[in-house]
Amino acid sequence: MTRLILATRNAGKVTELRAILAEAGLPHDLVGADAYPDIPDVKETGVTFAENALLKAHALARATGLPAVADDSGLCVDVLGGAPGVFSARWAGRHGDDQANLQLLLAQLADIAEEHRTAHFACAAALALPDGTHRVVEGRLNGVLRHAPTGTNGFGYDPILQPDGESRTCAELAPEEKNAISHRGKAFRALAPAVRELLG
Ligand code: IMP
Repeated sequence: MTRLILATRNAGKVTELRAILAEAGLPHDLVGADAYPDIPDVKETGVTFAENALLKAHALARATGLPAVADDSGLCVDVLGGAPGVFSARWAGRHGDDQANLQLLLAQLADIAEEHRTAHFACAAALALPDGTHRVVEGRLNGVLRHAPTGTNGFGYDPILQPDGESRTCAELAPEEKNAISHRGKAFRALAPAVRELLG
């Protein structure tokens, strides 16, 4: 069985990708980057999700000699020209302060009317081999932004993004419901054929 490494320390992402590869009939031994603690984190210096996903996947494949998968994601708000985009995790200045990021975005959009509050989560998923071969795919979840956070599941901007066709926010969906429609779920599912193509 081919070992495949996923560039994340988030156990939830490893479980999600493992399930998607199994569903696609691709039995791979998938491990998280935690299995290789000496490998340094890669700086996300790209300006697109695809660039950042590829940077992380190539660095990990080079460092481990194994096929590597990485993803990069964020929230793109139409009226802000696609921002926060690749800056989603550090929109309020400090990396990973979900609460501050969400509150800043709500304040920026306070005067924006319903019909202009469209947005989407985007995710790029990349597969890189140690020889430099790669594939990258993308997934999206379209929705509208609420005026106030609702729900306690999920993370990041989940409490303010209401997917199209839903009356609940992402933070009110059960994890399986969100995975079924999410940008990350779609990107990982779209990557399965690339895994088959490059790794068999
Ligand atoms: P990363 O790709 O895990 O680095 O995520 C980047 C940032 O985008 C996160 O810190 C969140 O702010 C935002 N984000 C990405 N995916 C989601 C999601 O599914 N729900 C809520 N926020 C998300």
